[in-house]
Amino acid sequence: ILRDYVKASAKESDMILKTSTITLKVPQDCNGAVLVKNLYLSCDPYMRTRMSFLQGSYGDSFTPALGYGVARVLDSSHPNFKKGDLVWGMTAWEEYTIITSTERLFKVQHMDVPLSYYTGILGMPGATAYVGFYEICSPKQGETVFISAASGAVGQLVGQFAKLSGCYVVGSAGSKHKVDLLKNKFGFDDAFNYKEEPDFNAALKRYFPNGIDIYFDNVGGKMLDAVLLNMRLHGRISACGMISQYDVQELEGVKNLFNVVTKRIRMEGFLVPDYYHLYPKFLDTVLTLIKEGKITYLEDIAEGLESAPSALIGLFSGRNIGKQVVVVSRE
Ligand code: NDP
Repeated sequence: ILRDYVKASAKESDMILKTSTITLKVPQDCNGAVLVKNLYLSCDPYMRTRMSFLQGSYGDSFTPALGYGVARVLDSSHPNFKKGDLVWGMTAWEEYTIITSTERLFKVQHMDVPLSYYTGILGMPGATAYVGFYEICSPKQGETVFISAASGAVGQLVGQFAKLSGCYVVGSAGSKHKVDLLKNKFGFDDAFNYKEEPDFNAALKRYFPNGIDIYFDNVGGKMLDAVLLNMRLHGRISACGMISQYDVQELEGVKNLFNVVTKRIRMEGFLVPDYYHLYPKFLDTVLTLIKEGKITYLEDIAEGLESAPSALIGLFSGRNIGKQVVVVSRE
């Protein structure tokens, strides 16, 4: 539960754990509700924007924490869900949840992959990578692609999709270990540690002497500004997220926006729920790639609901290595 709206940088102590008692049954007066036991919870950067009143932020402030997760149905008055079903989608950061709004609740159909994957590669972040890359960027073989926050839940997949599309792919991340993962585990052509490159423009010129065709923007701020200077004519920018701006008091201005005009860049923001109609196609494609060993995924697992605040806060200093998952229960 959020203790109070966050005014400066978010801290673990901005959230508290509370115990209360509920009856493990769907209430009689609740038609179409589902009672679930939460198994895995997803730590997602957008949750930080709900911890304060941010102008133009998406979603309402949260208390208790609402978020994506994987759960088991214990009781249901909804025709589409029955006791014993495994589901993924919007739940809450608690052991048991009564879900009354089920439009973002999906049945898990394939159980021959780790269940936690439905918080990541087969869930919302996976769909984000898929939509943000294929739908927004229209990639072509031989194009140059740059991805920021590249080792995270979304970025690691975008890089692998881009390689499968025959692109030249470079990622940025915040440690040597992450840079090694990008090059040696996820198959990026190159990668750099942005924390050791004070001049982003110079770094990008080194990795992309002929410019960038596609930028998958996870961070916004100064990196976006430097990328604008290095985009090629008719480049595409997928404005997926701006994590460098979520935990700051003063938003950073982007100075090089005029490049969008002069280089005829297409820059498009998107929110993945608008594209959930593509989920079956996405699931089919990515499940096949996983089973054929053509795509890999890295998770960072925190144990126990009590570890959730620290796991969430860790996203904003890059403590997570891969998709940050919280295990509430394994059965
Ligand atoms: P990650 O798993 O990548 O975790 C966040 C990572 O961001 C950290 O590990 C850290 O990595 C990096 N980071 C944190 N602070 C900064 C900073 N100040 N500057 C640069 N990098 C920073 O998160 P996701 O992959 O889940 O999300 C990536 C982006 O995608 C976010 O912006 C998120 O909001 C967005 N998103 C958008 C969606 C949409 O529908 N449009 C849906 C889902 C996600 P490092 O060590 O490399 O710094």
